[in-house]
Amino acid sequence: MIQRLLRGLTLRILYPFFMLAGSFSKERKEKLQGLIISLNNKLVKREKSRAKRILLLLPHCLQISDCDIRITHDIYKCKRCGKCEIKDLIQIADANGLRLFVATGGNLARKIVTDVRPEAIVAVACERDLSSGIVDSYPLPTLGIINERPFGPCFNTRVSLERVKEAIEFFCRE
Ligand code: SF4
Repeated sequence: MIQRLLRGLTLRILYPFFMLAGSFSKERKEKLQGLIISLNNKLVKREKSRAKRILLLLPHCLQISDCDIRITHDIYKCKRCGKCEIKDLIQIADANGLRLFVATGGNLARKIVTDVRPEAIVAVACERDLSSGIVDSYPLPTLGIINERPFGPCFNTRVSLERVKEAIEFFCRE
C-alpha cells in the first residue's frame, strides 16, 4: 500500500516538477524522465504485484523501416521474417499468453489500455512516451523498458528482449 502511494507521489507530483525543471534542456528532461521510469519500476517491483492479464505495448519504431507490412492496427500481420524484433516479441507474447499491441502515440496507447483492461502493463518506448504513459496508466502497475536508438529517435529502434522477458516473468511469477 505504501509503495503504491509512493508511486503515486512520484508520478503525480515529482514527475510534473521534474518536467518543469527540465523544460529548458531536452537532454536534462530526458534524463529526468529516465529517472522517473527507473523509480517507477523499483516501486512496482516492491509492490510485488502479480497479474494474469498483462498488456505488452510496443512503439511502432521497433518495426524496421523497409518493411511495408502495416502492423499498427494488427501486429499479427507481421510475416515473422526476423528482420526486426517484432517477430521475437510476438513469440514472447504468444509463449506467455499476453495481449500485444503497437501504439503510435499516447492517445492510441490510452485507448488500448481502456479496451484491454489489463491488470499490469509492460511497455517499451522512449523516455518521453514511456514516462508520460506510465503517469497516465497509474495506478495500474507498469514496468517500463526504454528502447535503444542506435540510428537516432523513432527509426529502427531496438529493445532488449531479455528485459522484456524479465518484466513479464516478474508479473507472472508463482
Ligand atoms: S519481423 Fe519482418 S515482417 Fe515482421 S515487422 Fe519485422 S520486418 Fe516486418
